[in-house]
Amino acid sequence: MGDCDSTSLEFIIVGASVSGLASAIALKESGHRVLVLEKEARPGGAGSVPNGSGCAQLPPNAGKILSDWGLDDVLRANSSPVSGFTVYKYDPGTVSPDFIGTNLWDKELLSEARGGYVQLSHRELVRILYEFAIKPSKDDISLVSVKFGAEVVNIDCEACTVTTKNGEVHTADGIIGADGANGIVRRALIEGDGSEPDSGTFTGISAYNTFIPRTRVLENDLDWLFNFPNCTLWMGPNRALRTFPLGKDSDLSLTVYTPDISTQHIDWNDEAEMKLTDVLGSCDKAIRKLAAVAEPATCIRIKEYHDLESWVSESGRVLVVGDAAHPSAPASMHSYSCSLEDGVFLGKLFSHTQNTERVPEFFHAFEGQRQTRCTRIRQAEKEALRIILLTEGPDQAAVEASMREQQGAGGNVLEGLQNVLDDFVMPTGFCLTPSRYGYNARDDADEYWMSWGRYHDMKKDTTDVDKTPIQMTFSSLVEME
Ligand SMILES: Cc1cc2nc3c(=O)[nH]c(=O)nc-3n(C[C@H](O)[C@H](O)[C@H](O)COP(=O)(O)OP(=O)(O)OC[C@H]3O[C@@H](n4cnc5c(N)ncnc54)[C@H](O)[C@@H]3O)c2cc1C
Repeated sequence: MGDCDSTSLEFIIVGASVSGLASAIALKESGHRVLVLEKEARPGGAGSVPNGSGCAQLPPNAGKILSDWGLDDVLRANSSPVSGFTVYKYDPGTVSPDFIGTNLWDKELLSEARGGYVQLSHRELVRILYEFAIKPSKDDISLVSVKFGAEVVNIDCEACTVTTKNGEVHTADGIIGADGANGIVRRALIEGDGSEPDSGTFTGISAYNTFIPRTRVLENDLDWLFNFPNCTLWMGPNRALRTFPLGKDSDLSLTVYTPDISTQHIDWNDEAEMKLTDVLGSCDKAIRKLAAVAEPATCIRIKEYHDLESWVSESGRVLVVGDAAHPSAPASMHSYSCSLEDGVFLGKLFSHTQNTERVPEFFHAFEGQRQTRCTRIRQAEKEALRIILLTEGPDQAAVEASMREQQGAGGNVLEGLQNVLDDFVMPTGFCLTPSRYGYNARDDADEYWMSWGRYHDMKKDTTDVDKTPIQMTFSSLVEME
């Protein structure tokens, strides 16, 4: 990396997508210098479905992060609010569309969580994050630089160096792997702890992602899909479809979950080898119409990954965040928010030190605090997917009947599910709960600091005060009490 300010740490981040850019922003806010290496020619990977319109869902806990960064206006200008979802039957019913009911987010809960629920394109979100990450500070200092076309091909966890494809070697105080579930940093950690390589296990479900340009939605009288609450879910048996707006006054995003019949390699950037119209199975005629006018889809075969033995290398100098740490299923409700939270947590933690010796301790603290939440969220997402894809049988029939009953009684469709599914854990991934949506990564990082981190710092201060000029002093600790 370039010339180093002696009071800041230097980090290398591998991957300039959501978790990498969020980490870069938050570390820069804490005064550290960051070099982001991205293998593609632009931020956020090459660009999802063929024209780059993957869809990012931002629940309140994610919107709040952008708001705290002063990005409210830009978010509002590029996103579309979602107030819940309308459920229809995926299979052909007696009528088309076969309306089952609605589930609306609790307004009070949303306002307490300080945010709404919004949708925008993957590409727009990473553009917003990228522009904010590289924006110079008030003193015109640029603490974040991003190199494109810089594929990392080797990581030395002990020496804390990375080598790029063109032979450049970069050294830092810490390396952060934000390069996704199949990335090189996650692989390096797996090799480091002697575990079996993990390229994921196919779950037997594929997600087809695509969109319909807005003009085509209107021409084909499909604009009712934009009606309040702005999101639809078409359920089972065995298959499901979700529609969302891709942003403000924009295209319609579609995700179809089907049994896995493809054998192709998974990637957000490759067009699916099978056409969407050929994988729909038995479905409502409205779904067939949607698929017929949609753009070519990508197919992501959903995999499950092992939990890593540790998110931190044995040397303590290399950490994984985002999907590299806790891989999420495509079109999950929480993958983007967990990635943003990771970045904020990390940055806030490192606001308390400029001491390179503390990097391993802080990386382990990150893992210790973030792992429980991310694991719970991943389990909830898995449960949500299980329910929308129930196979034909008594459970599926009971879920549908319960939803219709709730709707008839004027309630939210999810409300009765715990009575019909023995093993149903309420709330699942598609419910709003205070703990999930009211979560604040900064507060969580502060909690760690107040309970643990500052005491370690105080111990170090007595022995190492000259080398760590901005360490906390005893008097500052007293002031904080
Ligand atoms: C192009 C693209 C489109 C997506 N679209 C959707 C979507 O529509 N819906 C959805 O739910 N999720 C989508 N995702 C996934 C979603 O972004 C992630 O699940 C989540 O946000 C976590 O993000 P992440 O930053 O941890 O990882 P990712 O978003 O997967 O980003 C990893 C980044 O690391 C870069 N990278 C990988 N290897 C290297 C290397 N060796 N050297 C340098 N850089 C490297 C990649 O190019 C990429 O930019 C998409 C991901 C990508 C890459």
